[in-house]
Amino acid sequence: MITKAQAMFGHEFHSGDCHRALGPRGGCTTYTVAWRATGKCQTWMRDRRRFRVPIKHGMFDSGYIADHSAREFHSAESCPLNDPLYITFVDAPRNIVPGVDNAVKVIAAYEAKVRKERKD
Ligand SMILES: [Zn+2]
Repeated sequence: MITKAQAMFGHEFHSGDCHRALGPRGGCTTYTVAWRATGKCQTWMRDRRRFRVPIKHGMFDSGYIADHSAREFHSAESCPLNDPLYITFVDAPRNIVPGVDNAVKVIAAYEAKVRKERKD
């Protein structure tokens, strides 16, 4: 969800559900669709809730975040991936060997790796 203030002052926005997937050997893949603001946020005097900011993604995708489509986006600052331990298995069931025990082991190994990187 993008607020009017985030639309006015933010530069980077993400669409969809950002997530991180772990492979069976501890490999970590990040899935993010990042959009950048390409212009000024337009606002309306008569309807103060209304806003529209132009955005682009990659070389050819462009569009707008408006008040009615704001719930499909979140700002880069409020991305759940800012927490290094945020992990989901949404898109990678085939990469994970079935079994809760294995998932627990993979997550424990990843947490240990993140903790080690924080110390460095
Ligand atoms: Zn995100």
